[in-house]
Amino acid sequence: MDLHRIVSQLFLLSISCTCLKAAGSPASGTTPPVTPPAAVEEEEALPVSPVRGVSSTILDAQLEALRRPRILTGCKIAPLPEIWDTEALAFEANAETAPADVDGLRPAAALALDTFKEMVTSLGGTFELKSAYRPPAYQAHLHEVWVKWVKELRHNRSGGCQAMREEVGAEFTRHQLLVKQQPVPASDHALGLAFDAAVAMPRAARLNGKRVTVDKLAALAGIKRPSSRRDPGHFKLIAERPAAISYAAPSTF
Ligand SMILES: [Zn+2]
Repeated sequence: MDLHRIVSQLFLLSISCTCLKAAGSPASGTTPPVTPPAAVEEEEALPVSPVRGVSSTILDAQLEALRRPRILTGCKIAPLPEIWDTEALAFEANAETAPADVDGLRPAAALALDTFKEMVTSLGGTFELKSAYRPPAYQAHLHEVWVKWVKELRHNRSGGCQAMREEVGAEFTRHQLLVKQQPVPASDHALGLAFDAAVAMPRAARLNGKRVTVDKLAALAGIKRPSSRRDPGHFKLIAERPAAISYAAPSTF
């Protein structure tokens, strides 16, 4: 056995001894006294772990991560709540790229959507689906982003809040939210009963000789806009079983 191997084995042995010692009961008196760095003193509420000696680097990093937002920003506004729901997380991750989730709609709502879209386009209008089913936790997130931006950060000029303002502002833009349209915390989207679409009909559009509007066609398809002024893109199923005319209508033109 050469000297080099002996030295390295001794070195490894001494490391494992140190670890075993440190992992032992703190009451044994072998753990050196821990002097927290000055910044930690502000964090009286954080529990001091007895195994601090073992992984103090990791703990320090974790404490640092907890502390950073408050120390660096000094912003009194609470950050956006995290998303825990896995389905909502998938929606959040693909917010910009994923197509609207039509599969999550109730069959009657999905059918009404198809019917409506076909009516609109065959009469010369345009139909662009923006959103359909949304998991409840994702809907709640949209509501939180809207409130956080519009009510708390949009006009906030406090220096300490600027980092959070940038972050939430980017989130607001990414989700294509509008200041004038507050997403409700729980909605028909989460029930699979509603979709959002940008719909436009040419003024000259006629059906059976009469002028036809977006709302007229929506009614024929079994959907309605609860508030065409406040939320013009939001269409909701009128009833689980729309009138038979909904399905007959497309075949008449
Ligand atoms: Zn909507």
